[in-house]
Amino acid sequence: MRVTVDASKCCSSGLCALSVPEVFGQDEEECVVQVLIAEPSAALHDKVRAAARRCPTGTIQVRD
Ligand code: SF4
Repeated sequence: MRVTVDASKCCSSGLCALSVPEVFGQDEEECVVQVLIAEPSAALHDKVRAAARRCPTGTIQVRD
């Protein structure tokens, strides 16, 4: 799995960082999403896919 984001779409809701803090963080100034681990372990794949689905702005892309 490879995780990427288009940070220009992020509305800084923080949902992804709350639900999968191992993979998603937020910029300290503007709270824009940051990918902490671009290739997360298999144990995190379901959580990452759910975070991508729940992102209100479609910022998170996941490729297998
Ligand atoms: S859930 Fe989406 S909009 Fe919210 S912080 Fe994460 S990437 Fe940004």
